[in-house]
Amino acid sequence: MDDFVAPTDRTRLRRAAGRGTYDLATVEAILDTALVCHVGFALEGRPWVFPFAFVRRERHLYLHGAAANFGLKALATGAEACVTVTILDGLVLARSAFHHSVNSRSVMLFGQAEAVTDPVAKRAVLLALVERLVPGRSDDCRPPTAEELRRTSVVRLPVDELSAKVRIGGPNDEPGDLDLPYWAGDLPLHLTAGHPRADAGSSGLPVPSYLQDWPGTPVPAH
Ligand SMILES: Cc1cc2nc3c(=O)[nH]c(=O)nc-3n(C[C@H](O)[C@H](O)[C@H](O)COP(=O)(O)OP(=O)(O)OC[C@H]3O[C@@H](n4cnc5c(N)ncnc54)[C@H](O)[C@@H]3O)c2cc1C
Repeated sequence: MDDFVAPTDRTRLRRAAGRGTYDLATVEAILDTALVCHVGFALEGRPWVFPFAFVRRERHLYLHGAAANFGLKALATGAEACVTVTILDGLVLARSAFHHSVNSRSVMLFGQAEAVTDPVAKRAVLLALVERLVPGRSDDCRPPTAEELRRTSVVRLPVDELSAKVRIGGPNDEPGDLDLPYWAGDLPLHLTAGHPRADAGSSGLPVPSYLQDWPGTPVPAH
């Protein structure tokens, strides 16, 4: 398997191209860390962007939703999609307002989705989605029934035409600003779990260990 994807006309980075990469390991690490993607497509000449939970499996990105979800219907019937995945790693404070920025990892992916209709494949995707959000959970819940599978749409997009962009580090101040009396640096941000809250029916049950180990989105070192 290739380590890099080839840039196309629309995935060739222009601005801050030095932060861009087509390295699949970087792309997959971002896709396997972020919990939400935003899926954009045009329908009857109007733009739509839906946030979705998602899971990557091999070279496909899988989305699911209610069978009546019109966005998924549009995708399943061939609408061209643009998916963005973003992890916010920090706020960057420069001495000038102009050079304030954010540390982040992102992927932008283009493609045409296809419906996943085979119930066995759908079931595997739905369990993979649960496992993606809470590692350890898919073996610790009731699996989907045939009726639940029927009421759920699953579509997949190829992880093929894409680019990633990564910004790490401190501010890029102008040399002439370095002596200004303003604090500059960065504020790391990352997603962490709060304390699990049992619902009324779970009060006698121990909190699963996988919730204590929930990974969040650790900030990369710079
Ligand atoms: C959390 C976050 C906040 C941001 N906030 C801003 C902001 O406020 N203002 C701003 O101008 N920019 C912001 N960006 C950067 C923004 O996503 C674009 O990269 C930037 O605007 C470049 O636009 P451009 O027209 O030069 O695109 P180009 O670089 O010309 O885009 C060409 C191609 O490069 C690829 N590409 C572009 N951006 C990205 C990306 N972020 N990730 C992966 N591939 C990409 C796509 O394939 C795109 O089709 C932010 C990014 C992140 C992750």
